[in-house]
Amino acid sequence: MLIAGGIVIDVDGERPADVRVGADGRIAEVGPALTARDGEVVHDATGRLVIPGGVDAHTHLHLQVGAVQVSDDFATGTAAAAVGGTTTVIEYVTAHRGQAPLDALSIWRAKAEAACIDYGFHMTFTEAVTERAVAECIEYGITSFKLYMAYPDSLQVDDGVIVDVLRSTSRHGGLVTVHAENGPAISALQREALLAGRTGVIEHSRTRPALLEGEATARAAALAELVGAPIYIVHLSSAPALAAVRAAQERGVDIRAETCPEYLYLDTADLGGEGGENFVCTPPIRDSWHREELWEGLERGWLHTVATDHCPFWMHDRRIGTRGRPEGWRDFTEIPGGLPGIETRMTLVWSGVRAGRLAATDWVRLCAEAPARTFGLWPRKGSLRVGADADVVVWDPERTQSLDAEDLTMRTDHSPYAGHESVGWPELVLLGGRVIASDGRFTGAPGWGRYLPRDQVFAD
Ligand code: MN
Repeated sequence: MLIAGGIVIDVDGERPADVRVGADGRIAEVGPALTARDGEVVHDATGRLVIPGGVDAHTHLHLQVGAVQVSDDFATGTAAAAVGGTTTVIEYVTAHRGQAPLDALSIWRAKAEAACIDYGFHMTFTEAVTERAVAECIEYGITSFKLYMAYPDSLQVDDGVIVDVLRSTSRHGGLVTVHAENGPAISALQREALLAGRTGVIEHSRTRPALLEGEATARAAALAELVGAPIYIVHLSSAPALAAVRAAQERGVDIRAETCPEYLYLDTADLGGEGGENFVCTPPIRDSWHREELWEGLERGWLHTVATDHCPFWMHDRRIGTRGRPEGWRDFTEIPGGLPGIETRMTLVWSGVRAGRLAATDWVRLCAEAPARTFGLWPRKGSLRVGADADVVVWDPERTQSLDAEDLTMRTDHSPYAGHESVGWPELVLLGGRVIASDGRFTGAPGWGRYLPRDQVFAD
């Protein structure tokens, strides 16, 4: 296929160029005015942008939370990702306490065989692990790990474990990602709220203040500095956390941070209103002034990537909660947290370009190039250079798309952006040279996705 007449945007800048996709599913040629060959399909991309497929470095396509589970699976979630312009996901596997990491991985591997787009895995440790366990994951191509500083009852590890894992991981060339919130302090605030009879949705936000995200982010940065290891902060949501990242960057710590569209567009007013339970995610969406700081962080390069933390639940499951109560959850701690987003990330960040907050090249860097580099997929992913996988999005900057749940491909019955029409959407999406979405419709199939073992050394 020859994609002709568009504006190519990738690591090499923004310029008019044609893109030739080879029969091997890789980029064969990029340049001005390429001549179509006999039998070659030509896609006219005049007036369109031609970009590398999006890389979403934070998804939950298989996750059980108490009595409920996420409403998308690998087949449905990755189909929706493709429609929205994302062709690679990195999914979080959780090794629960007492469970061998490779046993957890085999469960996720089986689920992921249905994926429609390419995928890799991060491994979450919820207790101390041996260096051998880290090395086994890395041999398998899982080169990034996650540690929680919150959820003391189930997921959190203490600072000593963080130091140990930072050390063993960096010795093997891997990267630690952290959920940075002060779990024990949050638990104390939750107990106070419940004792006082404050059980409503808004308490989810009040008991997880930005201050405690900032504190944990600063602590994570200090532990990485202590060990001399790189660190990556997932789903950064607030100004204090951003300030902690900046302070660490200024003193030379190799710290990178991800934010998510929900923190760029939603705020506590959504939690306080009708149906507020459908806006519960962790960290919580913040007061609106934080959003301005996050946009500035993206523009100035203090924030490195935009991922989704895609974690959708049916409204019914929100209501019955993690305890599965037919009469409905009793307090805010029982509401499963997470939002749908795998399909809408590219257009929501593109909206920042339309609003003049970001350059188009920033959009491609944040959504494709930087996550590919950071997580050992570069230059196979996140790039349109010759030899890269032909994961190509032909982006129509003027195409409108309703963000109502019924108009999206994600398997969810509510949308955080309901009532909004987004401008900018893919007209064609290729995965390894095959057309996986066209004219807003999914044209691929479960099983098209390939497992991506990842490199140890992440590129700068
Ligand atoms: Mn997550």
